[in-house]
Amino acid sequence: MALLVQKFGGTSVGSVERIQAVAQRIERCRDGGHDVVVVVSAMGHTTDELTRLADAITPNPVQREMDMLLASGEQISISLLAMALHARGVAAVSMTGPQVGISTESTHGRARILSIRTDRIRNRLNEGLVVVVAGFQGSTTSSDGINEITTLGRGGSDTSAVALAAALAADACEIYTDVPGVLSTDPRKVPDAQLMSTISCDEMLELASLGASVLHPRAVEIARNYGVNLVVRSSWSDAPGTRLTSSTARAISQSGLELGSPVDGAEELNGQAVIALSHIPDQPGIAARLFESLSEADINVDLIIQATHEGNSNDITFTVAEPDLEAARRVSQSVLDNLGGKLAAEAGLTKLSIGGAGIMGRPGIAASLFNCLSHQGINLRLIATSEVKVSCVIDSASDAKARQAVQEAFDLEESQIRINPTDNGSGEPEVRGVALDRDQVQLSVRHVPDRPGTAAALCSALADNSISLDAIVQSERQHSDGSRDITFILRKEDRARADVALAPLLAQWPGAALEDGEAIARVSAVGAGMPATPGTAGRMFRALADAGINIGLIATSEIRTSCVVAEDAGVQALQVVHAGFGLGGKERHTAQGTPSPHDPD
Ligand code: ADP
Ligand code: ASP
Ligand code: MG
Repeated sequence: MALLVQKFGGTSVGSVERIQAVAQRIERCRDGGHDVVVVVSAMGHTTDELTRLADAITPNPVQREMDMLLASGEQISISLLAMALHARGVAAVSMTGPQVGISTESTHGRARILSIRTDRIRNRLNEGLVVVVAGFQGSTTSSDGINEITTLGRGGSDTSAVALAAALAADACEIYTDVPGVLSTDPRKVPDAQLMSTISCDEMLELASLGASVLHPRAVEIARNYGVNLVVRSSWSDAPGTRLTSSTARAISQSGLELGSPVDGAEELNGQAVIALSHIPDQPGIAARLFESLSEADINVDLIIQATHEGNSNDITFTVAEPDLEAARRVSQSVLDNLGGKLAAEAGLTKLSIGGAGIMGRPGIAASLFNCLSHQGINLRLIATSEVKVSCVIDSASDAKARQAVQEAFDLEESQIRINPTDNGSGEPEVRGVALDRDQVQLSVRHVPDRPGTAAALCSALADNSISLDAIVQSERQHSDGSRDITFILRKEDRARADVALAPLLAQWPGAALEDGEAIARVSAVGAGMPATPGTAGRMFRALADAGINIGLIATSEIRTSCVVAEDAGVQALQVVHAGFGLGGKERHTAQGTPSPHDPD
């Protein structure tokens, strides 16, 4: 007999018939002798509809009231599902998040789970009941002792389910949804997307945070941290779906189930070199040609960063291992010979990274890294960020100083610092999945002073206002006054607050100004084998170039490559990149249920 946590999403409980079908499935599981805790989302598009009602009343609803409103959606589905179970003769009880004892932080609208009481659920399981828990919600105690309802953020029922599985030490957590599992991309946009039987939590964390909405990224983070046995499968069939794999498992942190120590370790990679091409024309095909030529010369490129600048020309910067520098310089020069532009190269660099699933959604972590380095007077040559890793390239002469500062800032043991690690995912597929995100905007700060600490100051100012930035790109080129530009992308919903957050900083930097970029979509490819496979980036850029799609910004981290393109080219970009990596197949996996009215497709 096993203890299972089963989560059913909005489409799976979208009608009376579907709720009855879910009840039937749960009954079968009970008949198999298992204890079952069920987590459900609100029916169909209830959460969208409630949000629209609020919008119709005010453009700026108070977050506490939004949580009161949105949490009601899940209360409807838990009670109806419990009734459907009763109708089949299955003993069951519904419980809200606060009734279970899911305690969260006080941040309304995106609260993290601190702890979950297990005794209340266990008592009911011992009485032979199926416990039906409302997803997406918890509670916090206000300063005057009142129990306040909080929600975890859109898509958060997955997180409720995995957190319950971790707290209860369940044998498995099964996420039932309207697709057969995790596919190589969104089947609503690419009908020949293929099902994966397994995917690592690291890869899924990247995909989920880059737009693959099939799992809430925080659910993957919890599964990875606590070694939860997590499966995504279809509500309409008995097919096994996709199993998530993770190599780590630790005890639940005392400081909070979703908190813990955000940084797991640091890594230093010595002997790095940077090549910077600047003032190259902003037109499709150049990045493809450059990175294809490098791959033909068998040169493995690590980080790649590209941003468009004033006057519509591009800078592309990338890193290679020092022994490859001369060859890489020759290849780059030959590409430049036909185009114009400048080339600069520099060896003697080190890549320093911090990693940990808890970096996600906590903008203060990247800011602390940049701050601790800037306090040592260390200049950041290049920055690459992902949801689970922040890397920067610095002068090797500062290695020891930087390592010590990072060790102290993040309270790391000697054993958590790896120098020149050799495991790079060889043997893994270079790309497992691609994702599209249309919720980001691009912002540039022009004329930023060129001195240590500017990126840190920018990140800190945003982090202090709870704004995460994704790709951050410092320009290679300098203006005539020696200043540079920094470009970054952030969530659309944070754009207005960024003005307020950055105003004091801009006031200190004479001549600095914010500039909005065009409407963007971000297409990303993710694969654990990417670091070990030369030419992945070139293949992605080629697929886009052949479709005539111009790349506005490139940002990579270890296991992902992201390209920002014009918003209206987003879906086509996703399709050609998916096809370009040969991820399509014969089977068609259309999602069941009608698309959300908010889904732009
Ligand atoms: P639920 O209501 O069950 O939580 P969601 O709508 O949140 O369902 O997530 C399932 C949807 O995620 C699918 O219908 C699909 O359109 C979308 N999706 C995006 N990327 C992927 C992917 N890589 N694999 C599977 N589904 C994906
Ligand atoms: N009902 C919430 C939403 O639509 C939570 C969830 O479905 O996961 O975002
Ligand atoms: Mg969901």
